[in-house]
Amino acid sequence: MSHYVSGLVVREGGGPATVEELRLPEIGPGQVRVRVRAAGVCHSDLSMINGTLRPPHPLVLGHEASGEVVEVGEHVTRAAVGDHVVLNWQPPCRNCWFCDHGQPWLCSTSSGVAALENGITLDDAPVHVTLGLGAFAEQVVAPENAVIAVPRELDFEVAALLGCSVLTGSGAVRNTADVQPGESVLVIGLGGVGLSVVAAARAAGAGQVIAVDVSEAKKGLAEAAGATDFVVSSDALSKDIRVRTEGRGADHAIECVGRASTIRAAWRATRRGGQVTVVGMGAADDMVQIAALDIFSSARTLRASVYGQADPDIAVPALARDVLDGTLSLDHLITDRIELADVPAAFERMARGEGARSVVRL
Ligand SMILES: [Zn+2]
Ligand SMILES: [Zn+2]
Repeated sequence: MSHYVSGLVVREGGGPATVEELRLPEIGPGQVRVRVRAAGVCHSDLSMINGTLRPPHPLVLGHEASGEVVEVGEHVTRAAVGDHVVLNWQPPCRNCWFCDHGQPWLCSTSSGVAALENGITLDDAPVHVTLGLGAFAEQVVAPENAVIAVPRELDFEVAALLGCSVLTGSGAVRNTADVQPGESVLVIGLGGVGLSVVAAARAAGAGQVIAVDVSEAKKGLAEAAGATDFVVSSDALSKDIRVRTEGRGADHAIECVGRASTIRAAWRATRRGGQVTVVGMGAADDMVQIAALDIFSSARTLRASVYGQADPDIAVPALARDVLDGTLSLDHLITDRIELADVPAAFERMARGEGARSVVRL
């Protein structure tokens, strides 16, 4: 039996995102059908429509979500009807070289796939779904390894954020940068991921957490997340950071924008021997220039953090426990609660640098 659900679709590149009726396929072996309860508006969704990424169309947007399992296919072992789950947009296969070598976040079956077809149709033609999910929809069909069960007490809106921004931000701090107590951490770009980085850096015992954004309006959010300093981004950023770090520069810079200019700024604001962690997903033609001599003499490390460099099957339940026992507060992250049709307005707020996360309630 097929099911008809509403979903947010972009029919062609550069076109508007509109709520359309989608037909879900009958689920197959190893698949689950999930009633989506909350879905966050992530910067990667904006990147799907603003030209940064070039996904195929038509495309159902959305990938940061939580919900309730309403049907399971044959041979499904990790989920049961009624489970509350977080959706995982990069489920590891557990068979490839990377999965076998403890790096499931680099799993070769899912890396770099912006959008897949999974049997969902629009006007009887196949539609693509963002990151294998297309979670701005009332229901999704996904492989069972793309759902992670979480306790029923966990709020669906908070649970949604665990699936992308919070896992990405906290993982960048804990796993990639490995921030130590007393260290100084510069965070550039204060969207959902950047604010999660701020909170995680503070929780890791960082001495100084210097939050940077182009928008002065982010100051209150940065302080609520635990920033010790807030700086409006400018050409004088590296000088400004040096003044605040005894002339050396920060021990860590975590870049959450994904632009050559901000990666350069992160590099220059970091101390000799410091670490630059790139979390933002940038464009293929935006080149970062660093002098060969600078790479040697600065002795800095530049690396990327993909999906928090975490095993989501372990990290998401752990984050859920941290939220439930009060170790991790995410209340400041959700600034707008909206409906599906309001997502385009949320993209505009995001592009203007307003607010933190908008969460669609379904
Ligand atoms: Zn995301
Ligand atoms: Zn794999």
